[in-house]
Amino acid sequence: MAIPKDKLAELKETLLQEKERIQKNIKVLSKNMDFGDSPGMNNEEADESEETANELATIETLKDRVDNIDSALEKMAAGTYGVCDNCKGDIELELLEANPESAVCKKCKD
Ligand SMILES: [Zn+2]
Repeated sequence: MAIPKDKLAELKETLLQEKERIQKNIKVLSKNMDFGDSPGMNNEEADESEETANELATIETLKDRVDNIDSALEKMAAGTYGVCDNCKGDIELELLEANPESAVCKKCKD
């Protein structure tokens, strides 16, 4: 299945915007975490490190998404976008519209 060119351009735009938004989030979260001192022993600082752990996890999740978006953009450039990573079948267009960074088809996702 060839994805119509205008639809492809639309999805690419969505991916680029999403990537920019996520990268901004990563920057903000990274800045928040910049305490500048080593982990302390008192309770107050223990709370802070728990928060830091959460934020680190969030940043990791966001970075994974950037990776997914990057690989989707690479596939667009290579002309293999919309092909399922798992079964090599076509990814449903409606799925790509809902989630343009999706690398597997509906069948393989379930
Ligand atoms: Zn599949």
